Amino acid sequence: MSDDAPLFDPDAARARLEARRAELRALGEVSAESRRPVTLDQQSVGRLSRMDAMQGQEMALAQNRRREAELLRIEQALARLAAGDYGYCVVCDEPIAAKRLAHDPSIPTCVDCASGAGS
Ligand SMILES: [Zn+2]
Repeated sequence: MSDDAPLFDPDAARARLEARRAELRALGEVSAESRRPVTLDQQSVGRLSRMDAMQGQEMALAQNRRREAELLRIEQALARLAAGDYGYCVVCDEPIAAKRLAHDPSIPTCVDCASGAGS
């Protein structure tokens, strides 16, 4: 490792990533319930509550997509940790600021590449 290696503790980063992954997986199990197709009894609930239920399902689906995207980032970060690439921007290969990693250890890019997304 060179002198400009990012300042972070790989073990602490791995622990945080694994804790967050476990948390997201637990949340996924809870929300699997709310993602089931809406099969409310039309007799007992009014039209409005059925709409509410469907809206809730949409939200649960959106949340689930975000969660799966974050899980993927976490898996990739763990893979980079294992490979010794962690802490370097996946786009430009520059070290990622430690402050940035402290905020979100799964972040794959430096602040420049994140803000210039798509370029
Ligand atoms: Zn970069």
